[in-house]
Amino acid sequence: MMDELTPRQILDRLVSFPTVSRSPNLDLIDWVEAYLAGHGIESHRHWNEDRTKAGLFAHVGPWVEGAVVLSGHTDVVPVDGQTWSSDPWTVTERDGRLYGRGCCDMKGFDALALWALVRAHHAGIARPLQIALSYDEEIGCLGAPPLIDAMQGVVPKGTAVIVGEPSRMQLITGHKGGAGFHVHVKGYEVHSSLLPQGVSAIMEGARLIQWINDRNAEIQAAPRGALGARFDPPFTTLHVGMIEGGTAHNITAADCRFAVEMRVVPDDDLEALAAAFEAESARLDAALKARRPEAGVHLQRFFGVPALTPEADGPAEALLRQLTGQNAAGVVSYGTEAGQFQEAGYSAVVCGPGDIAQAHQPDEFLSLAQFQAGHDLMKKLVEQLG
Ligand SMILES: [Zn+2]
Repeated sequence: MMDELTPRQILDRLVSFPTVSRSPNLDLIDWVEAYLAGHGIESHRHWNEDRTKAGLFAHVGPWVEGAVVLSGHTDVVPVDGQTWSSDPWTVTERDGRLYGRGCCDMKGFDALALWALVRAHHAGIARPLQIALSYDEEIGCLGAPPLIDAMQGVVPKGTAVIVGEPSRMQLITGHKGGAGFHVHVKGYEVHSSLLPQGVSAIMEGARLIQWINDRNAEIQAAPRGALGARFDPPFTTLHVGMIEGGTAHNITAADCRFAVEMRVVPDDDLEALAAAFEAESARLDAALKARRPEAGVHLQRFFGVPALTPEADGPAEALLRQLTGQNAAGVVSYGTEAGQFQEAGYSAVVCGPGDIAQAHQPDEFLSLAQFQAGHDLMKKLVEQLG
């Protein structure tokens, strides 16, 4: 049988695979699969459409429902344009820190989860443990929903999910949901002196942006929901982050493109807000087409992540309270796969080593203290399952 690697040894291997979201992650998945197989653990793959990437899940312990699920993503953000003091694809220890792309977000947790799975398998446990490793998290949490689907019926359904995004090991029970749209307003070019015969994509796009401003004003004037009150800011926000369009001051713009992002507190209905924006865009599309058939509005939704709603007496929260001794639970403003697990009927929380401030940075690091705290949590978890 293969040696049981330490979390640090596993981390070294995981970081050595440059699994940037735009690239395949199969080398990493092959390694994980072989490592688990070497310990007699069967794993299952969920492939993406063109079979360039795979998610992986595995189950150890009795073949019954009620597992604790450790969830992490295998992809990392690029290092392009960043200045690193050491090779981002080699874990380098200095000043009590482990430097490397993904050490914090979130191969550190992945390594701990793999360690726990193998340890639990050999120790023997009464309550099962599962691991779920996704891809394409960094480009909008795209990989988890099909992975969660793939798990159904292949392994017994788990109960409590720990998503190990960096939270400095704090128990996080809520986060905002999010949705993003690329908007393309198509106009009709004429000399601006003939304005009524043309359609300015910029001026029409501005109507949609004003609709967004109006929603923000409306939301901020409305009474606050109880769940939202815990966030900063304590309400849903809509934002336009980039815009381009037009060719000259005296030509009605043929194109205007902008990106819309919504961050939605758990009290509000993300899908209803997204649908309202789609309806408003459809109204404008029809109005523009009535003036010029070439004109119109095209929307492309590029992500949608449900909010994580704090659960009343949730099993995942209860488990983490017991393991960490923490009484307080926090909320965060970044989205994670926890909302997606919760939407699929799991109890879910976020708790992982490292500080989100380190994620995506040049010289990304995980402190040894945080890694050790994560390891301690996993040891307690394996004991608890036994
Ligand atoms: Zn992450």
